[in-house]
Amino acid sequence: MTQKKLNIRTGDTVKVISGNYSGATGQVLRTILTKGLVVVQDVNMRKHHQRPTSSSQGEIKEGGILTYEAPIQVSNVMLICPHCDEPTRTTRRHDLDGTIERICKRCDNPVPTVG
Ligand SMILES: [Zn+2]
Repeated sequence: MTQKKLNIRTGDTVKVISGNYSGATGQVLRTILTKGLVVVQDVNMRKHHQRPTSSSQGEIKEGGILTYEAPIQVSNVMLICPHCDEPTRTTRRHDLDGTIERICKRCDNPVPTVG
């Protein structure tokens, strides 16, 4: 089985290019490779209403509204190059020591992978 590879990695800054959050930028918190989804900070926020509950042991959980980021399609975001500060596409290039670098198609600089 071949694993799909995304050109977006955790820690990247991306720009949302379609959907309700079009134009928003944020940091990638998580990627879900198998589904082609990414979780971007402050993008696609969902609210979850939690009811106060008490268990039989007498524990009481506080209720409230939790907000969390729901995943979005990776095709709806573009990587922002840290060098030219623009949404860009990347190509892959094998470095001399064999590591794969992502290269910005605009400025031809390697895009560092965070984490
Ligand atoms: Zn660039």
